[in-house]
Amino acid sequence: MCGIVGYVGKRNSLPIILDGLKRMEYRGYDSAGVSIINSENKIINFKKAGKVDEMSKSIDKDIFSGNIGIGHTRWATHGIPNDCNAHPHFDMDDNIVIVHNGIIENYKQIKSKLADEGYTFKTETDTEVLANLINYYFKQTGEFEKAVRLALTDVNGTYGIACLCASEPDKMIIARNGSPLLIGIGNDETIVSSDASAVINHTRNVVYLEEGDMAIIKENGFKMKTIYDERIFREAKEIDFLIESIEKGGYDHFMLKEICEQPDSIQNTYRGRINFDTGITKLGGLESVFDKMLNAKRFIITACGTAWHAGLVGEYMLEQYCKVPVEVEYASEFRYRRPIINPDDVVILISQSGETADTLAALREAKKYGATTIGVVNVIGSTIAREVDAGTYVHAGPEIGVASTKAFTSQVMSLALITLMLAAEKKTISKDSLKEIATELKSLPGKIQNMIDIRNEYKKVAELFKDSRNFLYLGRGINFPVALEGALKLKEISYIHAEGYPAAEMKHGPIALIDENMPVVFIAPKDRIYEKVISNIEEVRARSGKIIVIATDDDKDIGSYADHILRVPRSSALFAPILNVIPLQFLSYYMAVARGCNVDQPRNLAKSVTVE
Ligand code: GLU
Repeated sequence: MCGIVGYVGKRNSLPIILDGLKRMEYRGYDSAGVSIINSENKIINFKKAGKVDEMSKSIDKDIFSGNIGIGHTRWATHGIPNDCNAHPHFDMDDNIVIVHNGIIENYKQIKSKLADEGYTFKTETDTEVLANLINYYFKQTGEFEKAVRLALTDVNGTYGIACLCASEPDKMIIARNGSPLLIGIGNDETIVSSDASAVINHTRNVVYLEEGDMAIIKENGFKMKTIYDERIFREAKEIDFLIESIEKGGYDHFMLKEICEQPDSIQNTYRGRINFDTGITKLGGLESVFDKMLNAKRFIITACGTAWHAGLVGEYMLEQYCKVPVEVEYASEFRYRRPIINPDDVVILISQSGETADTLAALREAKKYGATTIGVVNVIGSTIAREVDAGTYVHAGPEIGVASTKAFTSQVMSLALITLMLAAEKKTISKDSLKEIATELKSLPGKIQNMIDIRNEYKKVAELFKDSRNFLYLGRGINFPVALEGALKLKEISYIHAEGYPAAEMKHGPIALIDENMPVVFIAPKDRIYEKVISNIEEVRARSGKIIVIATDDDKDIGSYADHILRVPRSSALFAPILNVIPLQFLSYYMAVARGCNVDQPRNLAKSVTVE
């Protein structure tokens, strides 16, 4: 979500900061701003509700020049998204300026204490309170670094911050607790950011801050400490993706590009991990906990949003093929529910970014009780990836579109690989079945490509329904989570109300909504419950609902039930969700485009949700 960029070096910081903010646009935000220390050591500040481009156009570029600066894109948590609440925020004396990602949970208490001391506030944000708390300690100590440190030991909640001080104009101070931050090490310059995409233009060499780390950055380099004043050293890492992968490459939208990348991203998930002759799968990152997985009494999968849907697919897979009980839970509920977790449980955390605040908190909760924790994460080196006992990267490549597509299919693929690895060792699957699945896996990228090639068919149907106000998505078994995912995609980018249900549940309530204006999307592959789904289709037909069916290529009968058919290649149950979700991704994409929605930056949404 919200983004931070900072620059310290010899160049004019403004273009670098603006470019960084643009590159983070995909994360979703509602306002943007920048503060720069000019040649007279004064802090100049500009911020505005709306897009980075609007802010950028309104900035007087002749005045905005200086070698140290910070910028921010905000995703409002405290205070409406307007010019005033946009970051950066000054303290009362206009001496300290700060950008902040996250939430200061005890800001009210701090605010009222500061108010008693005579402090006044111009905004509704928690961030301005932190700026004034730094001011408070600055007045006591006369030292910017000490003031930041003392202020941070007083706050509860999450932050990634970057701040400047007019009295000490040679430095920028950054700190992290719960919101990602990294330092890009350039030639005679340092670029800090909450997201590698903002620094990759300048350097691939980065240091990731860990919880409680801070850094004091000057023109000649930086030093790192904890917020408790202990010196620390963090090794530099190399950014692992190419700049092209975060650019649109000729596609109209990142979302479309990422949908169309799925033949590759799926292959990247299983590449080198499965022996196609035997079907034996090896996930190197899980070797250290493999015994724990084999002996686990129970798996708990926890995640948020789309990743939670992948987890639900995983539940079907692990229970069916590995004969082990699985529970799937929203991370936001899990963390506060006081769940019963035992040391012989294995907890799988799924997160594209590896920074999802609720999933991270669920991980820490699971660790408290001694469970084995496994990450299924896309972003390499992210916090969840670092804190789990073991993990497997999904290797989908950077996902920029706010509505997750290729990360979802790669998460499902990762769970399928975990399932195959465990089932082979537990002997809950026959050798022949393993071989069959491996052979089928090889054909999967080609099958996905076939769907991408016929995307105009999906587009035609999408355009017919662009003015619908509601949608139902129905599926059964392993395709029920796919129905949930299809409905979520539609809500996210087209703003059409949609619900996903197990098809048989429809008659227990949602059927009351069916009339001639209600489109219902059925996921009805030719599998063992095909006939049951057909009966559910009949129930909707009897009430004049509009029927759109995801049906396999070889289903010759479906035409007599469906108003519209979205064809998918046939596959085994294990991989069916990966194939069946793709027409649903296209459906939501083309409906959003037809409705004129901003596909890559849907309103109110952020890419990775790093606040609770
Ligand atoms: N809590 C801060 C605010 O509402 C920061 C939000 C963000 O992470 O962008 O302004």
